[in-house]
Amino acid sequence: MNYTFEPIGVIHSPYREKFGIPRQPSLATAAGVTLQLLPPYNHPDCVRGLEAFSHVWISFVFHQTLERGWQPLVRPPRLGGNAKVGVFASRSTHRPNPLGLSLVELVSVSTEGGVSLQLAGADLLDGTPVLDIKPYIPFVESRPDAAGGFVDGPPPLLRVEWSDAALRQLTELEPPPGFATLVEQVLAQDPRPAYQDDPQRVYGVMLYCYNVRFGIVANKATVLEILQENQ
Ligand code: SAM
Repeated sequence: MNYTFEPIGVIHSPYREKFGIPRQPSLATAAGVTLQLLPPYNHPDCVRGLEAFSHVWISFVFHQTLERGWQPLVRPPRLGGNAKVGVFASRSTHRPNPLGLSLVELVSVSTEGGVSLQLAGADLLDGTPVLDIKPYIPFVESRPDAAGGFVDGPPPLLRVEWSDAALRQLTELEPPPGFATLVEQVLAQDPRPAYQDDPQRVYGVMLYCYNVRFGIVANKATVLEILQENQ
């Protein structure tokens, strides 16, 4: 039996590419994301009472990686990129049904001219189709004593520094508020693929319309330059 679902909303996010998006929500809290509801779900009745909840579950489609299909075994970055676990023991984007599930902070609900939710700390690509929203219920869903398998605890963070050139560009370009914090939170997560450790390499992560160029040596990331790109 097959089922067809249609998106109830779409994500507007600073993350314009997969590379650099934190591997789970809440790791970069400075990422301000808007979930815009689509007709006919953008009626205020659909979100009545939601503002009383501080967090929501967002069910979404991994729309950018759909065509890559799935494999029974995957290599989670947290295991160094070599060890394999079953797809259902992972949060991999490459799944038989490419559905994602993120718990995010609900900052506010707007019902002016349609309905949109302001979310903080989402791990979602710009343009992500959203299938459902559900309020988070702490007394049943918070399990601090649960076993976290191979992801027991947060990953170690990198130190982040800015070059003089990048600091100058930060002032000149006048990016959105919170941009510098977002850059630091994203780079601190070490966005490199698990197997890469090349101190000469320059990486680029797209946040809004800015290509943030950086390098990583040992446990320090350095922001080298910020390039504005036309999108
Ligand atoms: N929290 C979700 C979950 O557990 O289902 C997502 C976890 S998944 C490991 C997180 C990664 O999904 C992000 O780092 C980003 O690379 C990727 N991602 C986010 N939005 C996506 C989209 N619309 N299509 C494909 N990949 C996406």
